[in-house]
Amino acid sequence: MISTTYSKLPGTTTTIFSVMSQLAAENNAINLSQGFPDYEADPKLIALVADAMKNGHNQYAPMTGVPALRELIADKVNRLYGAEYNPDTEITITAGGTQAIFTALSAYIGAGDEVIIFEPAYDSYAPTIKMLGGLVKPYEMAPPDYDIDWEMVKKLFTVNTKMIILNSPHNPTGAILRDKDIEALIKLTKDSDILILSDEVYEHLIYDGEQHRSLALYPELRERTFIVGSFGKLLHTTGWKTGYCLAPNYLMKEFRKVHQFNVFSVNTPMQVGIAQYLKDPATYAGLSAFFQEKRDLFRSLMGQTKFKLLPCNGSYFQCVTYSDISDEADVAIARRLVKDFGVASIPVSAFYNRNTDHHVLRFCFAKKHDTLEKAVERLMKLT
Ligand code: GLN
Repeated sequence: MISTTYSKLPGTTTTIFSVMSQLAAENNAINLSQGFPDYEADPKLIALVADAMKNGHNQYAPMTGVPALRELIADKVNRLYGAEYNPDTEITITAGGTQAIFTALSAYIGAGDEVIIFEPAYDSYAPTIKMLGGLVKPYEMAPPDYDIDWEMVKKLFTVNTKMIILNSPHNPTGAILRDKDIEALIKLTKDSDILILSDEVYEHLIYDGEQHRSLALYPELRERTFIVGSFGKLLHTTGWKTGYCLAPNYLMKEFRKVHQFNVFSVNTPMQVGIAQYLKDPATYAGLSAFFQEKRDLFRSLMGQTKFKLLPCNGSYFQCVTYSDISDEADVAIARRLVKDFGVASIPVSAFYNRNTDHHVLRFCFAKKHDTLEKAVERLMKLT
């Protein structure tokens, strides 16, 4: 008899992003759950990718990525953060940020290795660590500020701590790392072999004149860090699933050993088209202002509802609490919002290992103004 009950991830169900997007579709709801734009990318970019296909760029790209694109990333990181990454040995193009995260973890995490994560955390981190036999050591952040108390984080460290995962600007909370966080991180990892995985996919979505503190800025951290980036967020093309990973040579060597047997290489025409398009940095220079306008509009509209806005310094996401509306669990109210009011959001408890429920919902504001207006019109009806 074949055993049909085996599971490598027994406690894991379908990702909340798929669940909520599906529920939104079934109920014909406005989907502010999964983070993706509902407007088109620049037609110039689309034309460049189409040209790449027409011009014969349709076979495997090099395993590490199209050279012109890697060079372009090296220039960008150098210009923005003063960091030198060798495009041949320290930059790899990936099939999106999530694959880069999976691959970096796979290259280093094995049985018994402990990984510190900051919750609420992007939902791929914990299952990936568990699948590799590692142990998740969560530090739970809490609203309203989702601030990190590093004295408490310190207590999570053991001889088995192998890696720390950071994410700034942060999904789902929109919080960002501050100087005090960087200082603490430098102090905590100094003289250790602890590696860092820095998920920076929202690096260009940062508001109110704040600066993105990429870990590439700090030589003491850079030497132990995988940095993950995303073209989907940069170019409004999340469905193209293209991203990249930066790491010092000794880490990237191991990353590529896994990458080559995981995806081998990423689709060629997108890489060629993106490389052409990004030659002009003006293409993404205005990204923060573009999204800040959306954030500001969404915040001002939501100000007319009974939801309470939490701070948002970056990312696609605005989190809210709802104590003036109900004391339901966040999962329950999120379902009710889709079914009865036609608006989908993400219950933030889904981002905690223990499903800690602070009664917070996440809304994605990377949408047309009209979409945001219609959604909030519906949310106003909640009393
Ligand atoms: N990063 C996106 C979000 O947080 C979704 C990614 C995904 O669906 N896997 O909504």
